Amino acid sequence: MSTSHAKKANEFVKLTDVVDRHDATFWSVRVKRDTMAHEVPEWENLREAASLIKKHTVTHLAGYLEKFAANAERNGVKVHWANDADEYNAIVLDILKDHGVKKVVKSKSMLTEECGLNDSLIAHGIDVVETDLGERILQLLGVPPSHIVMPAIHITREQVLECFRGHGIIQKHGQVAADSMHGDLKTLVEEADPTFLTRCARYHLRDNFMTADCGMTGANFGVADTGEVVVCTNEGNADMSTSIPPLHIVSMGIEKLVPDYESLAVFQRLLARNGTGQPTTVYTSHFRKPRPECEMHIVLVDNGRSDILGNEDHWQTLKCMRCGACMNTCPVYRRSGGYSYSYFIPGPIGVNLGMLRNSDAHYGNCSACSLCCSCDNVCPVKVDFSTQIYKWRQQLDGMHHADPMKKTMSEGMKVMFDHPAIYTTALRLAPVANVLPSWLTGVALGAWTYGHTMPKFAKKSFHQLWKEGLKDNKDE
Ligand code: SF4
Repeated sequence: MSTSHAKKANEFVKLTDVVDRHDATFWSVRVKRDTMAHEVPEWENLREAASLIKKHTVTHLAGYLEKFAANAERNGVKVHWANDADEYNAIVLDILKDHGVKKVVKSKSMLTEECGLNDSLIAHGIDVVETDLGERILQLLGVPPSHIVMPAIHITREQVLECFRGHGIIQKHGQVAADSMHGDLKTLVEEADPTFLTRCARYHLRDNFMTADCGMTGANFGVADTGEVVVCTNEGNADMSTSIPPLHIVSMGIEKLVPDYESLAVFQRLLARNGTGQPTTVYTSHFRKPRPECEMHIVLVDNGRSDILGNEDHWQTLKCMRCGACMNTCPVYRRSGGYSYSYFIPGPIGVNLGMLRNSDAHYGNCSACSLCCSCDNVCPVKVDFSTQIYKWRQQLDGMHHADPMKKTMSEGMKVMFDHPAIYTTALRLAPVANVLPSWLTGVALGAWTYGHTMPKFAKKSFHQLWKEGLKDNKDE
C-alpha cells in the first residue's frame, strides 16, 4: 500500500540524526520567515497584492510577453522563443556553437534543471560549471538538488571536504585559502572548517569565471515595461558569471514576467523575507542590455506552461516565484527529505508540478501531504497547494493510479457509513480487535500502522453511552 514517496521516505527516516537535523534546519528558516513577516505590518496586503498581480499577469501573458520582448530587443538583446525543453536546449547550443564556446559558467536556474540543459551541453563537449556554491558541490558529487533555494543543505561539511579533495580543489587551492585566513592548512582540513572550504571554492570558481566564454543566468523576474531581467543571489555568482565572459544567456520561464517596477517592488519585498528570512537577497542584479562589444540573449521558455494556464484546477502553480517557503514549512518534506519525491522539485509545489509534468511518473508524490494547509498559509502569492493536492488525489482513480487496497477500504467504508445497521454492528464488534496480536493488525494494515500502536477500542461506543445517558435522564 506504500507509494513511491512513502518507500523512499521510509529509508530516509531510518537516519534519525539526519532527519532531526533536516527538520530543525528548515524549521529554523520557517521561524526566521515568520519573524521577518511580522516586522512588516502590511505583510498580508503584500501577499494579496502579489497574488493579484500574478493572476493578472499570467491571464494577460501574451500581451506582456510581446511587450517584454519588444523592449528587450530595443535594448539590444536577442530574444528567442522555445516551445519545449528540446527546442530550448537546441537554441542554447546553437548560440554557444556560433560563438565557439568551450566553457559556460552558470548561476542557479531551476529551468535549466527542468530542461536537462547541462547534460545536453556536456554531451556536445561543452564544459558546464555551476557557480552557486551549493549547486557546484552537487555537480561535483553527481547528485541532484534536494531543495530549490538551499540545494545542498543536506550535505555535511565533511562530505564537502571529501568531494573537494576528490576533485583536487584542496590540493590546488588549500594552501592559498589557509594563508588568506592566517591558519594552518592541516588543522583546517582536519576540522573541515566551513570558512576554509568556502575560500577553496571561491578560488576554484574564480579560475572558472576567468576562463569561461559564456555566462548563463536564470531570471527571478522579467519586467515587461523595461525588457530587463532581475536575478537575485546571495553569492554574487550571477554578477561574476556575466561580468567577465563576452556572452550572456538568460533562461526564463514565460511565467516570470511582472508588468512594471511597481509590481516588481511588491515581489522584491516578499521573496527573500519569505524564502530565507532575509530582508533582501545580498545581490539583486538588473540586466537590461549587453555590455559594450558583448552579446546578451534571452530565451523565453514555455515547456508546458501554456497548458498549465489552461488548467482550471492547477493554473495557480504559475503564480509561484520559487521562494521555497512551502518546503520549509511542510512537515512531510522536513521529515522525509527532498530525495523522497520523484520530481526534481520536491515539497508541495513539486508535488503539483510533477503531476502537471507527467502524472504517470509522479503520482506517488500525492501521498506526501497531511493536508495541514501550512504551505498555503506561508505562500507569498497565495498558491492553494493543499487544495490542488487534494484534487489530484480525487483524480488518481480516473488515472488508474488509485491504490487497490485503499480503494477497497474506501468502498467498504462507504457501505458501512451508508448503512447504520452495519455501522452499529461494526462498532459493537470493534473491541474484538483489542485482543488480536499486534503482528496481525500490523501486517494487515501495512504502512498505515508502521511506527504506531493500534489504539484500544472502547467497550461501549459513544452512541451507546449517549443512549444510556438519555435513558438515565428519562429515568430520573
Ligand atoms: S498541506 Fe500538505 S504539502 Fe502543504 S505543508 Fe501541509 S503536509 Fe505539506
